[in-house]
Amino acid sequence: AFAHIEKQDKTINSFVTVTNKEEALKKAEEVQKLIDEGKLTGPLAGVPVAIKDNMCTKGMLTTCSSKILGNFVPTYTATAVENLEKAGAVIIGKTNMDEFAMGSTTETSAFGATKNPWNTEHVPGGSSGGSCTAVASEECSYALGSDTGGSIRQPSSFCGVTGIKPTYGTVSRYGLIAYGSSLDQIGPVAKDVTDVATILETIAGHDEKDSTSVKRDDYNFTEALVDDVKGLKIGIPKDYFGDGLDKEVKDSILNAVEVLKSKGAIVEEFDLSLVEYAIPAYYVIASAEASSNLERFDGVKYGYRTQEYEGLHNMYKKTRSEGFGEEVKRRIMLGSFVLSSGYYDAYYLKALRTKALIKKAFDEAFAKYDVIIAPAAPTTAPKIGSSLADPIKMYLGDIYTISVNLAGLPGITVPCGKDSNGLPIGMQIIGDCFKEKTIIRAAYAYE
Ligand code: GLN
Repeated sequence: AFAHIEKQDKTINSFVTVTNKEEALKKAEEVQKLIDEGKLTGPLAGVPVAIKDNMCTKGMLTTCSSKILGNFVPTYTATAVENLEKAGAVIIGKTNMDEFAMGSTTETSAFGATKNPWNTEHVPGGSSGGSCTAVASEECSYALGSDTGGSIRQPSSFCGVTGIKPTYGTVSRYGLIAYGSSLDQIGPVAKDVTDVATILETIAGHDEKDSTSVKRDDYNFTEALVDDVKGLKIGIPKDYFGDGLDKEVKDSILNAVEVLKSKGAIVEEFDLSLVEYAIPAYYVIASAEASSNLERFDGVKYGYRTQEYEGLHNMYKKTRSEGFGEEVKRRIMLGSFVLSSGYYDAYYLKALRTKALIKKAFDEAFAKYDVIIAPAAPTTAPKIGSSLADPIKMYLGDIYTISVNLAGLPGITVPCGKDSNGLPIGMQIIGDCFKEKTIIRAAYAYE
């Protein structure tokens, strides 16, 4: 992993922080000793992992790719990361991301853009871009990402790796620096379905430290790694395959669906209503929650503080003006606006009602189908620089991923082809709440 990092990371920029090599090797030796003594037997023991830089790691810089947390070293570790460490994982570094996970290209990082390893003129997607490029370029064996509106599934698609966003509440959010708390979930990014199922099994679990964490009956996700989709009912939302979807992406996904059909799955098209409301509802809710969550970064409690100021209010103002990037400020302003009196009912409350209707539309779909198959993004990875100038266009690119977060559902992206420029295409398989095993089974059978 270190050899790959040394060779490629100057160009790709997957990492904000790389673990000191001697320290990582020492840790690996300690793990090896435990393996030799029979005290550690799991499949992740000794395997190098990269962690998205919005998950707290005790004693190790955790920046959210923001200047405001540029010097923040947490005093505790996120539960998901702790679960990996208990299983013997060796943290190789912290990966680059869109600042505070706000973005779809990993270009809003305060520490420079990450490049797509398949073609460095293109973005890797985002916001978990660094996690996906680190896996795609073999700088680590697997990585953790977070997904508020597609941040695991979309960059997985752009980088040709496999990533899963679990049902809301499955993986503890304790120690994950919040963006949109009602939408955020941590999930694994890896080379194949077997790996993501194995990692998910290790990081998932009830956690008293996260009040939205659920106690599930079954966390044995690897049991679903069986090559059998006979009779599996697949719904294809017609509205997801119409105008706006790139032809090569569409053809690749529909070919993949044919593979599942040839293995005995039953495929049917249907109307998933309300699709056009997902983006406005998501951006109102996510920004509202972000504006509240980001209040805490004020120059007092964490990270960066402006050098010169007159009085407390001036210190807050200057710290936040200098510490946050443009996209983050845009979200804070939008979020504060939709939560302000007079606009709360018109925007925020309406978005919450829309969210409930979207959930209902999915409930109706899952009464008929076991899984829904969709693109993860309308195109393959765009060129670097083409999205930053037009944020609305970037938001529109989230059309196929965000309703899954609004409804709290699990979704997995598996690679299903390449476009004529050699850029990867992913297929998204969406399941009903708590049906990770069904989407893992479908993904595994395809792969
Ligand atoms: N692109 C979406 C946003 O900017 C989703 C990001 C995410 O899932 N963290 O909000």
